[in-house]
Parts: sequence; structure tokens; C-alpha cells
Amino acid sequence: MNRWGNASDGRGGKEMNQKKYQDMLAQRTENIFKDWEARGSLTERELYYFLHKLKGTSGTIELQQLSLFCASQLEILSSSNDQKIPVSSLENLKNRIRSHFDGSEAVKKEEFQLPDCYINQLDQETFILIIDDDLEFVSYLKELLEKMGAQVIISLNGKRGIEQFYSMRPSIILVDTKLPDMSGFEVLDQIADTARQKNTMVALTSEQATKENEIESYRRGAMDFIPKPFDMDIFFPYLFNRQQRQHAISSSIITDSLTGIGNRRYFDEVINNFAKKADQSDTTFSLVMVDLDHFKQVNDLYGHPAGDDVLRKFGEILHDEKREGDYVFRYGGEEFALLFVNLQADEAVHVVERIRNKFNPLSFNSGDQSFNVTFSAGSADYQGDTEELISAADQALYEAKRTGRNRTILYDQRKRMGKRKLMVIIVDDDPF
Ligand code: GH3
Ligand code: MG
Ligand code: MG
Repeated sequence: MNRWGNASDGRGGKEMNQKKYQDMLAQRTENIFKDWEARGSLTERELYYFLHKLKGTSGTIELQQLSLFCASQLEILSSSNDQKIPVSSLENLKNRIRSHFDGSEAVKKEEFQLPDCYINQLDQETFILIIDDDLEFVSYLKELLEKMGAQVIISLNGKRGIEQFYSMRPSIILVDTKLPDMSGFEVLDQIADTARQKNTMVALTSEQATKENEIESYRRGAMDFIPKPFDMDIFFPYLFNRQQRQHAISSSIITDSLTGIGNRRYFDEVINNFAKKADQSDTTFSLVMVDLDHFKQVNDLYGHPAGDDVLRKFGEILHDEKREGDYVFRYGGEEFALLFVNLQADEAVHVVERIRNKFNPLSFNSGDQSFNVTFSAGSADYQGDTEELISAADQALYEAKRTGRNRTILYDQRKRMGKRKLMVIIVDDDPF
């Protein structure tokens, strides 16, 4: 007897067995579908565990495609959500599973190929929330959007979608008009105002692309209305366009227009985020407040345009010298703020001195005159309170000014400059 023959017999036997198990699994799955039908609805958790089990079993009996399909659906389902899903909304899913059993997988609809020009082209910050209960559609869309470079989260019902909107702060939201627990319009009512304030783009999607639905979407605060099924040739350029516009708006809100670095508003946001992170973990950060010396004189002697040149150049140097993860801001006028993550205030002083070595020698021109500018700085460590931190860095900056300018002073915790008494002299010829 020949070994090869045996081997091939063996494989034939195995295939036979696999087919038997595949049929058994198909039968068992149909029974489960019947049970769902009778119940009318099931929880997301139940659907999760059903697909989890099906994924494992199908993987071991050579139904690789079915196993992969289940895995893709599991990615968007929660194992701990007891929200009910109506069985009527699972028709697509059931048919997709059946097609894997009867070998008609070829029925799979024509796959859309994402054009190369969109691969990884979305900003990394693009965070898309899809509120839609069509499992197959959302997992397909999720895959394409991730290829574009976006982060994607899915909510299969309105209630969870609203929660995720408030807890995860997505930048783009797609809401279907028809959801198991409420309409997409009702979701809009609960998120539109905040979305507008946060520059979040909200689009409604609908299989009923009627004029009424479209009007209602805009009335209730959607930016766009997208008919279903999506025309992907249109959807991807559309999304890219929206994301770029959104990015431009977001950055203009937080950027100082003269220097191109962060503005005061952004400073407030970032310092609070730094504080939150520091309070929750063992990261630390320090703040340096900077103020240009005798800047009023610069304006008076050389004119405001020359003063603006100095501010622009200073912003440029700050931007170039900062490390990844640190932030620089124009705090207002000729004052700047620097935030250093995981760097102690005494080490931050060295960074500031490096900036000084770049900035001080620069000569600025106005007409046929040239001049130099210096700055003073105060540095302090975060100790659990942002207002105290700003005040500490300010006091150190004041100390730098008082002791001759063109220097950086480290806030001294022990001296507790804050507690020093202020001497007030009133000079007035009114005796009262
Ligand atoms: P000190 O060394 O004590 O900081 O003196 P100073 O003259 O720099 O301080 P003061 O606060 O008296 O003056 C700040 C000046 O900065 C006055 C203001 O006109 C000027 N300034 C603020 N914003 C701008 C700006 O955007 N462009 C220009 N050119 N000047 C500005
Ligand atoms: Mg000032
Ligand atoms: Mg000044």
C-alpha cells in the first residue's frame, strides 16, 4: 500500500467529516434563527455570544470565510450590552451566514475598491461614530474607513450612540434615520447643539431618501443627508472634503493668527488636559511663562510692524525648539506660555536658555536701524492645581523682570513667594 494513496484517502475522509459537521452546524444555526424569530428580539450580548461561538466552531470545521465574517461582526458588537435588537433588523446578517453554509458565498456583492489616493489620507485625529443597526453595512464601512486612516466606533442603537457621542467626542457622525430604539432625528435632537459647538460634523443617512426626510435632517441640525445605499464613488471624496474643512476650522479656532502657534483658548484646554492626565497617572509637567522685555519701547522706537516681526520670529523659534508632546502658546500680547510634559521646571529652564541663545543674537530691522530683543521667563512645576501653577510661573517671571530681565527664574517652592507680604505705598495729595 502506498503512503501517498493513504494520505489522500485520509484527506478525502476528513473532507467527508467536515461536510457532515458543516451541515450539522448549518442545521443548528437555522434552529437558533427560528428561536430568534419566535422571540422577536435578542440582546446585543446574546448576539455577541452567538457570533463568538459560531466564529470558533466554523473556524475548526474549515469554514474559514464564515469565521472571518463573524470576527468582523464581533468587532462592532459589545459583549456587555443588554439593549434589545429586533430580529427583523438581522435579515442581512442571517442571509450572509446562510450563504457561507450553502457555498453561495459568491453572491457577495461587488466589492468597492478604495482608490489608492484615499488610503491613510485622513487625519489621524479623524474619529468617526456610526450609529446604525445594519451590521453588515457598518462593518463593511468600518473596514473602508479604517483603510482611509480613521478611527471608527459603532453604535447599533440610538441610546448607546448618544452616550458614545458624549463620552468619546467623535469628529464625524453618521446617523441612520431608522434605529431600533428611536429615530435618527431624535438622536439629532440630543446631540446637534453640542456637535455644532464642538465643530463635529453630523450627517444623516437613510434608505428613505425623501424630500421630507432631507428637510427634517437639516431642520434638526444635520450638516448633510446621504441616501442609502451609499454610492462609494461619491462618499469617499465627500468625506475627505468634509474632514479637511473640519480640520481647517478646528485649527483656526486654536491658532494665534500672527504667530501660528496655539492661542490662549487652546492653552486653557491643553493645560487642563495635562492636569487631568497628571492627576490620573504618574506623568508630570511644568509651565514656563515668557514675556518679551521692553516691548513697548520696540513698538515706540521701530513701529508696530517691526514689533509684529519680532513676535512672529519668536513664535517660530518656540515652535522649532519644542519637543514632540510639548506645547507652545501665545498667551496674549507679548507673553508666551510653554508646557513641558514629563519635564521638571528646573530642566525646562535649560530648554528656555537654548531658546534664548537662538533669539537674543537675532537682529531685526526697521528702516536703516537694527535692534535686538530679549525676554524674561518664569518656570514652575505642576503641584495639583492649574491656577496655582500659572500664578507660580507668573511670580517667577515677575522676579526675573525685577532682578534685571533677560533671564529665567525657577519658582522656589520653599521661599513661597506667594505668601510674601505686599508693601503698598499710596502717593496721593488727597489726605482722605
Ligand atoms: P517689560 O519688560 O516689563 O515686559 O516691558 P514691556 O514694555 O514689554 O511691557 P508692557 O506690558 O508695558 O508693554 C507690552 C507691549 O506689547 C505693549 C503693547 O503695545 C505691545 N504689544 C502687545 N501685543 C502686540 C502685538 O500684537 N503687536 C505689537 N507690535 N505689539 C504688541
Ligand atoms: Mg507683558
Ligand atoms: Mg513685556
